[in-house]
Amino acid sequence: MNRDKVCSECGSKETRTGEFKGYGALFKKKAIIKCSEVDACFCVNCGFILNLKVRNPEKFL
Ligand SMILES: [Zn+2]
Repeated sequence: MNRDKVCSECGSKETRTGEFKGYGALFKKKAIIKCSEVDACFCVNCGFILNLKVRNPEKFL
């Protein structure tokens, strides 16, 4: 789970995980109640986002 992620833009291994909340949360269309924070793993060197992950995908089923 903890393998190093390397930035594909600058090659840095310095990555952090942040999150999209509030206005940045992903909402299911036409169902405002169904939303989830989105985790974003990004490079602290250049800001490139390596990946995005919806934290609670089961809410969208
Ligand atoms: Zn980078």
